[in-house]
Amino acid sequence: MKKILKQFGYIKRGILGFFQNNFDKLQNLSKKFGSFEIGKSIKEKPIQCFKIGNGPCKLLCVSGIHGNEIGTVKLAHCFLNWAHNNIDQFKNYTLFVVPCLNPDGYYLACKNPDYFNGGKIGRFNVNNVDLNRNFDTPSFTQKSIWSFGKNYKENVEVFCGNYGNSEPEIKALTELIKDKKIQIVFMFHNAGNDVMGNKNKLSQRLTKIYSEKTGFKYVSDEDWKELKQTGTAKEWCDLHDIAYVEVEGTTRWGSDWKKQKKAIKSIMSMNI
Ligand SMILES: [Zn+2]
Repeated sequence: MKKILKQFGYIKRGILGFFQNNFDKLQNLSKKFGSFEIGKSIKEKPIQCFKIGNGPCKLLCVSGIHGNEIGTVKLAHCFLNWAHNNIDQFKNYTLFVVPCLNPDGYYLACKNPDYFNGGKIGRFNVNNVDLNRNFDTPSFTQKSIWSFGKNYKENVEVFCGNYGNSEPEIKALTELIKDKKIQIVFMFHNAGNDVMGNKNKLSQRLTKIYSEKTGFKYVSDEDWKELKQTGTAKEWCDLHDIAYVEVEGTTRWGSDWKKQKKAIKSIMSMNI
């Protein structure tokens, strides 16, 4: 019975996400708002970045680091549309948005939506690397763990690349962060239904606000350590003293835009 309910959940989520194949929309978005390319995926797909506003605080939002997390790309799409129509609401920020860091994985996920298996196809890049384990940090190892399912109780081993920062997608992202002197990074994932920060004080403030506004569970550093992740964006941002917030939405294929909008609006109105 439990298994049937689980599968029904996947189907429901699948139906919600069925019409949300945003790859073409993303191209249209580039035409509409203008973007610049920060690099290319292994299959030569452009990795786009959008810049909005001219405030002193530089904030970067990244979606689709795991290509199977289709809803995060949809979320970036919603966010970009909102930001362009409400530019007067965040005078304090210059926003950078990378709607899809792993376009090869995302494309694969859009073409093969494995609704009955929780949407696992397309997580990795073409080298089969889990990109959120490929950052050049002291904990980097070639093999690490991906935990998923309820309370992250299911685990599989993943490949993290031959060395830290080996993958073109991660190189492009870290160069963007350094080049633009980004102070805050928001990284969007799903479907853990939680939010966590790094050691940076501002990160902790933002994480708590995000948790309050969305209802996503706040994850402490101690809880996170139990997942035993290596070579992550979180750790890399700690090394570079950048405030980091990792948001895990509730579904693979949906954006949670209604909830996330409340948190985003609240943070955008802050005077940091
Ligand atoms: Zn993820």
